[in-house]
Amino acid sequence: MGRRDRNGRRERVWRGVGVSDGAAVGRVLRVHGGAAGNVYRATLEEAEVRREIRRFHAAVRLSRRQLLAIKRRAEQLLGAEHAYIFDAHLLMLEDRKLIDDVEGHIRDERANAEWAVKVVTDKLLAVYAEIKDDYLRERSSDIEDVMRRLLVALAGDERAQRLTDDAILVADELLPSAVADLDFSRVRAVASDAGGWTSHAAIIARGLGIPAVVGLRDLFRHARTGDEIAVDAVTGEVTLRPSAETAARVRETAGRLRSTSSAADAATARDARAPARTTDGVEIVLRANVELPAEYEGVSRFGARGIGLFRSEFLYAQHGGAPGEDEQVAAYAELARVAGADGARVRLFDLGGDKLAPAAQEAERNPALGLRAIRLCLARGDMLRTQVRAVLRAAARGKLDLVLPMISDVSEVRAVRRVVEEERANLRREGTEAGDVGVGAMIEVPSAVLVADRLAREVDFFSLGTNDLVQYTLAVDRSNGEVADWFRTLHPAVLASISRTVAAAADANIPVVVCGEMAGTPAYAVVLLGLGARDLSMTATAIPRVRRALEGVDAAGATEIARECLQASGAGEAEEIVRARFAERWGALFPPKSLPAPKGEGYNFPEIGHTVSTSS
Ligand code: PEP
Ligand code: MG
Repeated sequence: MGRRDRNGRRERVWRGVGVSDGAAVGRVLRVHGGAAGNVYRATLEEAEVRREIRRFHAAVRLSRRQLLAIKRRAEQLLGAEHAYIFDAHLLMLEDRKLIDDVEGHIRDERANAEWAVKVVTDKLLAVYAEIKDDYLRERSSDIEDVMRRLLVALAGDERAQRLTDDAILVADELLPSAVADLDFSRVRAVASDAGGWTSHAAIIARGLGIPAVVGLRDLFRHARTGDEIAVDAVTGEVTLRPSAETAARVRETAGRLRSTSSAADAATARDARAPARTTDGVEIVLRANVELPAEYEGVSRFGARGIGLFRSEFLYAQHGGAPGEDEQVAAYAELARVAGADGARVRLFDLGGDKLAPAAQEAERNPALGLRAIRLCLARGDMLRTQVRAVLRAAARGKLDLVLPMISDVSEVRAVRRVVEEERANLRREGTEAGDVGVGAMIEVPSAVLVADRLAREVDFFSLGTNDLVQYTLAVDRSNGEVADWFRTLHPAVLASISRTVAAAADANIPVVVCGEMAGTPAYAVVLLGLGARDLSMTATAIPRVRRALEGVDAAGATEIARECLQASGAGEAEEIVRARFAERWGALFPPKSLPAPKGEGYNFPEIGHTVSTSS
């Protein structure tokens, strides 16, 4: 029989990878590519229903007028035979059933028009997704198009637009380009079909302290906006239309996690900003990684020593393209203010690849190896110069450094340094004040590791990006859930690369800050300590638990374990060493029973409040 929800529909369970702690019960908001646009849910007063239906009709009329105009232009430019596509859209807007259904939803649920449009079109999309005929199935893109047009037409309305506070985002893939305009303060959880532990959906969710499960494969196709849904990131289970028992269980988990983690975090936050100190007296600086303004508040709350990595491409995403120089100056100056005396490290736009493809860039066959990051910055000289000028200008108002993403050769560093000096001279000539900025290189591809000694002589610091380092060293796509079991952070090749980079930085007497997701995971942070890292940057919400882990271990022990891992025959053996040795030495922090057999990112250290992941 199976369990059923209160409407008698059978609940359905998906298993994915929990990548950000917590649990929540709420309502599905389907977002394609992460773009929710202007969808929110509001409950209307009875008296408002008629006006809302009129508003919906006005949006339909506006959409029709726009489509007719577009169709006329297409006929003139391309000929009548190419304009037929718009007939399909026009027909949809005249479809009585569609109009009646939206009206019915507004009336029966007392819902706002945006929500009603989304619910009705999502239902239609789910039907189309099941159709065997390829041609018909592809018509679903027309439905999406019409839905988007209607939502934009409705957005002309002045009323405040926001998500209800029980929204659970269900996405096929959550792209940085699409999340920038979401009101995350209202999102209770995230569930996405694609993604792995270091995918951007995961990073964003952790940064905002929102529970998230990724790698759910086909949840998106089955979920409909408005459905009830329960997300448990501890077990990696997502239940659509949960029964009363399931919903109660997940709510109970959510409450328990909230109270334990906030009590522990409050205790740790008392020592905010002091370096973490191991039991044998080694100090480790903990900084924050930042993407969205919503995360700024956490920088001081969790005691970060400044901002170790600002992923500036999110600024690009929020702006819908490269922001102008003045706008960037304002953003970086604000960042420097938030970071305070310890400063902020602004990474040049890390565009392309799995991140954000700039407009006008053709789809690449192999984007992770394509025109991305530093390559794109150098290819688009104007964009680079604008960003460099903005950072120099903002650095006159606070402490800022520049980070160069995906460096693979010394020549790239030299090319950017030339631009920095030229723009500094230009600003001087213009009489505009510029501050000092250090220049650092991301070490995240194998070639950079292999020439780290030479790179170290050209830069002021290293930023070790373990997410891409694992991806490129092991040739495993970080955002593809299908290969999550191959994403092995403790692979000896990865550990050797980290060790070599740390040694090269020490020889050249420059600092190295580790800023990949590895740094924000307690057990991995201890391995990093053992490999010689003393400066870690992570999503601010992770700082308290990483601090607790580091303060409960001794650096000498961590070094011994790291050495043993470096000699391991492969990832599995290194994972086993960590499991066994951690339990022997620091059993209270890492009790063996809580650790499932290692497999991919399958470590679970709930005793210090962080589920790394639960691939099964
Ligand atoms: C990394 O690759 O580890 C990193 C810090 O940068 P991103 O996750 O933005 O690629
Ligand atoms: Mg990277």
